[in-house]
Order: sequence, then C-alpha cells, then structure tokens
Amino acid sequence: MRLFKTIAEIRAFRQECYRQGKTVALVPTMGYLHEGHLSLARAARKDCDVVVMSIFVNPTQFGPNEDFERYPRDLDRDLRLAEEAGVEAVFAPEVKEMYPPGYATYVEVERLTEHLCGRSRPGHFRGVATVVSKLFNIVQPDKAYFGQKDYQQSVVIRRMVADLNFPLEIVVVPTVRDADGLALSSRNKYLSPLERRSALSLYRALLKGEALIREGERRAGVVRRAMEEVILASPGTKIDYVAVSDAETLEPLEEIKGKAVLALAVWVGSTRLIDNLLVEV
Ligand code: AMP
Repeated sequence: MRLFKTIAEIRAFRQECYRQGKTVALVPTMGYLHEGHLSLARAARKDCDVVVMSIFVNPTQFGPNEDFERYPRDLDRDLRLAEEAGVEAVFAPEVKEMYPPGYATYVEVERLTEHLCGRSRPGHFRGVATVVSKLFNIVQPDKAYFGQKDYQQSVVIRRMVADLNFPLEIVVVPTVRDADGLALSSRNKYLSPLERRSALSLYRALLKGEALIREGERRAGVVRRAMEEVILASPGTKIDYVAVSDAETLEPLEEIKGKAVLALAVWVGSTRLIDNLLVEV
C-alpha cells in the first residue's frame, strides 16, 4: 500500500491508474478507522480495481467549540487496517496542503442542510461539501463510498454531485454496529463505560420508533415523543434532536408516509452521537 501526503503525488498515482485502465474508488474518512470505515473499503474493493482512502480531519467542518483538536488520530494503526481491507493508496494531507494561505472557496448545499445536524452545527455541511468536492477533484474517482451512519451527509453529497455534475457515482453502505447495536463511530472512544451503556439508548429509541410505525402509528409527533422517552430514561443523556423526516427532503413530517428517516443526535456526557434508521410505509 502507498501513502501520499501531497496533491501532486496522489494526482500522479491517479494518472497511472488511467494509463492502466483501472477504475478507482474513493473512501473519504477522518481516520481512527473502525469496522464502519473498513466496510466502505471492502465494498469499494468489490466494485473497483483500485481503492483510494483519504484520511483527513477536516477543520472546516468543525465549529469553533467542537472537538477538532481532540478528535482521535492514529495514522500508523489506520495504515495497517486500511491495507488489510484492500486499500491500495492512502491520501493523508496536512491541513495546509488542503487549505493553503489565501484559501477562499466554499461549497454550499441549500435547504437539505437546514435540518437535523445542519441546524445544530452551522457551517458543518459547508465544510463537508467543500472538502468532498476538493477530494473528488483531486482523486477523480469513478465511485465514492459513504456510510448511512451519516445519513444527512449522504443526501447532501448526492445532491451536490447531481447539481455540480461531478462525473462519478455515490454508493451508500449500511451502518455497521457493535453486537449490542451501538453504531460504530470514532467518537465512541470518548465514552466512559457508564456512558457507553447510556449510548445504547440511541439505537433502542430508533428501534422503538420503528416498532411503533410497524404497528401502524402514523403520527410523527407520537413516534418522536416515544423515542425521546427512551433516550431520557438513560442517565447522562441530553437530546440535541429527535426527528421523523422525509428521507429525501429531510423536512420534518407530521404524517408518516413513503420513505422516512428516524434520525437523532444525543449528547452522552460531553460526546455528541448520531444515528438513524430508514423506514418505509
Ligand atoms: P468519518 O471518519 O466519521 O468522517 O466517516 C467516514 C465515512 O465512514 C463516512 O462516510 C461515514 O458515514 C462512514 N461511517 C462512519 N461510521 C460508520 C458506521 N458505523 N457504519 C458505516 N459507515 C460508517
């Protein structure tokens, strides 16, 4: 496996792939890899000849009081895990390689980013859309892989790719969970054993919402309140949002119909966790 730190190097690698007629997949990550990231790499490996993984903790998607500085990083471990998952090249640039002095251009996706995480993390999706656009232009992949874990992100990126005519295909891979249901996340590292137990309430709340809908409940407010109760019953939790939303527009629903997403963000101690489940009625 090869490690590239500069845009010039990964561009040269990409040119080599063109010359050899190889298709290229891109798996964008912020590193501190877990099975969720690796499932994206394995899916990519099945579809394409070469898998490129980017590892970059992107400062522009963090708010001023968020965890950019303390976000977990371990490049040596990441390189080992990526290689085992069939990644051929890792692109791990420094911040100044991606945002040199004088940098001034950002990508805004409207409407979709007004809801859910966009509401509580102003500027977050602007940073995501910007860095993903840059990675698409740098790596020029045939396909790019994203996790359903960050459902809103996948919807925003799909919209951006359609609107800005990026010549590539977006693939969304199902959420990987621990045996007890907690969605894998690099931020789970922040949780104490007690918080780890409370964090299970996110998935339990989603299952509760799903069960109510399956039993015939169509009032989003009723489903939402039942989910909130599950969260609040766990010690040390604080709800950021619990939403029942249209799966395409991400707008809040009153009556559940068609494709919907149950989505939530919850503070467990000082760690903000998100999860979601798609439902169809
Ligand atoms: P991150 O490093 O958190 O920015 O995540 C990089 C990519 O991995 C994103 O597309 C995430 O949606 C995806 N991802 C993160 N956690 C999971 C998970 N538990 N299951 C599937 N994909 C995930």
